[in-house]
Amino acid sequence: MGWKTLDDMDLDGKVVLTRVDINVPVEGGKVTDATRIERIKPTITDILAKGGKPVLLAHFGRPKGEYVPEMSLRVTIPTLEEVLGRSVTFIERPDRASIDAAPSDAVILIENTRFSAMEEANDPRMGQFLASLGDVFCNDAFSAAHRAHASTTGVAELLPNCAGRLMAEELGALESALGSPERPVVAVVGGAKVSTKLDLLGNLIEKVDTIVIGGGMANTFLAAQGIDVGKSLCEHDLADTAREILAKAEAQNCAILLPTDVVVAREFKAGADNETVAADACPADAMILDAGPATVTAIEAAFGTAKTVIWNGPLGAFEIEPFNAATNAAARQAAAFTKAGTLISVAGGGDTVAALNQAGVADDFTYISSAGGAFLEWMEGKTLPGVAALMS
Ligand code: AMP
Repeated sequence: MGWKTLDDMDLDGKVVLTRVDINVPVEGGKVTDATRIERIKPTITDILAKGGKPVLLAHFGRPKGEYVPEMSLRVTIPTLEEVLGRSVTFIERPDRASIDAAPSDAVILIENTRFSAMEEANDPRMGQFLASLGDVFCNDAFSAAHRAHASTTGVAELLPNCAGRLMAEELGALESALGSPERPVVAVVGGAKVSTKLDLLGNLIEKVDTIVIGGGMANTFLAAQGIDVGKSLCEHDLADTAREILAKAEAQNCAILLPTDVVVAREFKAGADNETVAADACPADAMILDAGPATVTAIEAAFGTAKTVIWNGPLGAFEIEPFNAATNAAARQAAAFTKAGTLISVAGGGDTVAALNQAGVADDFTYISSAGGAFLEWMEGKTLPGVAALMS
């Protein structure tokens, strides 16, 4: 696929600088969700098995180039040690000698790369400094690959490099969903606003067979067709853009599935009184908060004939019940088809993962990307600098 994996590298006796994403949630000085740490374990285990010494490079929070004690990576050490089942040596101010002095089977963690302003500026001096610490660079942080930083691209250009297990898994799953997918492909694009998803829609129209548009952004499309959406979230100023997207889709033979019925309420709160109406019958004082059951049936039918589904964004205001109904029902159907072996389902983006977790189906999808921004940029068809650097 153009990049090397750990299998292609000779790591015996080598120091392997390993970019990981362990930007985990922390409360009261403790890691509250270890998912990101669990997902880098195969890479670290395999580097050690090949005789390499992993030196973890990672960012944590947004310290903006300054030392911020609460953003020290020290907080991750107990969880790293528990997940990896071995001790972790923390080096605050790394140099090659202290890395060489650590035991040969050690896992080394160095301090938050973003404590230096040179990281986000991708200052060549930082890339060179990082390169001086190791022999090989392994990038296992797909979720940071949309940023050209010293620890994602600068150092990659200076050392023999490869993708880690998680990175390779992500790239493989994404390639199978959009690069050379089994057709027909259905994309689900939901969420609040069209304005944040214009590039996404533009790219998908050229690549997929059907796009399901849901969530607040569907309201903009309904309004652009002359439908009164009452007090719904709606970007009225994007009516022309929405019409252009629909015309482009038609020209490219990409079907667009918009809601035909909707769930409306007068208040944006859990348990608000609600009713289901036709998509063109939203009362003037109400707002659309979810897709209705007929729309869900149409989405499920599209999944039934599809071979691949790629999903970003909820179909409604999924954080407040009962406006999670359409997202949950459609997600469960995608999961059921996946389990039955008729569908490849790939999803990503922060809200999407939360929505699928809430529907209780995250484990049944073929692949859930651990990345937010990087997943979106990849779906938009953009080149991710961290991935491009592995090709060089
Ligand atoms: P995004 O961050 O663009 O993916 O949008 C996700 C957010 O869109 C979630 O917080 C949802 O609650 C919200 N959302 C989805 N559908 C609607 C809707 N019909 N009205 C208002 N907010 C919505």
